[in-house]
Amino acid sequence: MRASGQRIWFVSVALLAAVALLLPGEAEGKAAGKPAARSPKGTATATRSRDATPARPASPALQKARAELAAVKQSPARRRYRHNWEKAIKALERAARGPDTGPALLDAARGRYALYRFSAVEGDRVAALKLAARASKAGAPQAAALAAAIQREAGDEPAPVARAVRRTAPAPAAPSPRRAEPPHVAPQAAPPPSVAAGEDDDPLDPVLEEALADAPALPAAEKAAETPASTASPAHVTEVHSWTSPDYTRVAVYLSQPVAFEKRELPAGPDHPRRLALDLHPAVLDGPGTERKVSDALLHRIRAAQHGPDTVRVVLDLKGTEAFQVFTLGDPPRLIVDLGIEEARREAVTRALPRPAGADEDAEAADRPIRRIIVDAGHGGHDTGAIGPRGVREKDVVLAMAKRLAAKLRSHGFEVTLTRTDDRYLKLEERTAIANLARGDLFVSLHTNATPRRDRSGVETYFLNVTDDRYARRLAARENGAMDVEETPPDVQRILTDLDSKASAGASRTLARLVQKEITARTRQSQGPVRDRGVKSALFYVLLGARMPAVLVETAFISNRAEEQRLASPAYQQLVADGVARAVVDFAGQGRVAAR
Ligand SMILES: [Zn+2]
Repeated sequence: MRASGQRIWFVSVALLAAVALLLPGEAEGKAAGKPAARSPKGTATATRSRDATPARPASPALQKARAELAAVKQSPARRRYRHNWEKAIKALERAARGPDTGPALLDAARGRYALYRFSAVEGDRVAALKLAARASKAGAPQAAALAAAIQREAGDEPAPVARAVRRTAPAPAAPSPRRAEPPHVAPQAAPPPSVAAGEDDDPLDPVLEEALADAPALPAAEKAAETPASTASPAHVTEVHSWTSPDYTRVAVYLSQPVAFEKRELPAGPDHPRRLALDLHPAVLDGPGTERKVSDALLHRIRAAQHGPDTVRVVLDLKGTEAFQVFTLGDPPRLIVDLGIEEARREAVTRALPRPAGADEDAEAADRPIRRIIVDAGHGGHDTGAIGPRGVREKDVVLAMAKRLAAKLRSHGFEVTLTRTDDRYLKLEERTAIANLARGDLFVSLHTNATPRRDRSGVETYFLNVTDDRYARRLAARENGAMDVEETPPDVQRILTDLDSKASAGASRTLARLVQKEITARTRQSQGPVRDRGVKSALFYVLLGARMPAVLVETAFISNRAEEQRLASPAYQQLVADGVARAVVDFAGQGRVAAR
């Protein structure tokens, strides 16, 4: 059970008869959104080594398998699911026959590596190395370079392919919990207190870049034609969800691909309420129009319908004058509308920030103590999060930590809402919605870090903001379930530069500092050297739109053998829980003192 006692109406899509969605009068053009930026990945990889193999064309089976893998890489909807990758990689392995053996296995190795970069599952990297070794044996000239690059990236010595593969033993599908190779991570030498600048900014090896690039499933001309919205195939509007409480509503519109939208606000007239209309173009609605009555203080109803051959119009009938925010998220593409944001933000900010002496208006709100803490265990269900070399899964570790943290916070007298209490999948936007609906005072999202470099270790705490730090952007992309770092959409940028939002970021940063300090202090006491990687900011979707100070904690690196072992231990989980709880107690204490 989540959001104890809160009213969460998770309204499933009701498919009703199509309704005409005509906005009377001239709608006032307000703003035009843009489709989420496409990442420019793979542009510099025109020279494909697979084309360097003889003039003999690949067999139809190999061509088909290559196209299948390319389709998975290119589709945000498909690449989120492991089984799609597995199917394409298996098809490549099956195509490894006769003269195609080397090239097919090399492509399978590249595909497995690309999956690894997306999944942060150690077994995928091991499998990529094995495939590269087989490809090399079958005579694929680039296979050895691929294997060496994968090992260099991990921080392992580049070694001849055959030897290298023998060293990495665990099977990819079911990583053995037992030690399958000698532990090469000695107790770490006492590290410097913080991370040297640029340490995590390693540029990607061109050989690996090629493995990650979209394979040329589409001829270049066709690909170029994809980009302009006018000639693009329409996006499909697949689902409309809403989460609602008396003072807050979040609506999510799910799409098959990014699409441009236009936002129009129409003041209340004699025969209709105030309306917010979103025109998505080019887009088609999957199924008939939808109409849903929503009984809350902010919204009468939500409608979605085909409006002309290539426009989908989503209309929200609003009750009052509440402000709203509209922004896009990628991977999978969706449009989020938050209603009731102003009121809540004012509250969160006055509550969390020191007030000037003598200020007495809203004194009641300012004095309201920090009472309800939202604890979010990352990932869950089919989304395992990262998986370490010994098979420890992020989703299990963070759930165990979240439960310990909840118990500890309750023992301090806080109310706690867990976004999940079991192994279930929750969308990122749903987690934020749960936090807002529960009227949380603080939001803490728990994760474990992962990176291709096996020697990386330590604790990091994040608050929400844009960042130029490439490492932080890559990490956020992984936690956001995105294939690659994307440009910040302008609508999200606007939200982040908003003045109130900045004030709230100040409180989040304060909380992040306390959390970081407490976790590193406690773990150092009992675990020896633990790297303090500091407080940072990045664009984590799970924090976006949270109406309370919010942080995301990377509690240790599951990709590091020593830290993976710690993360799996109840003692370490308790240390982290105790550290976060202490930080919350201190933060709450600071707020109260400042307010009086
Ligand atoms: Zn995570």
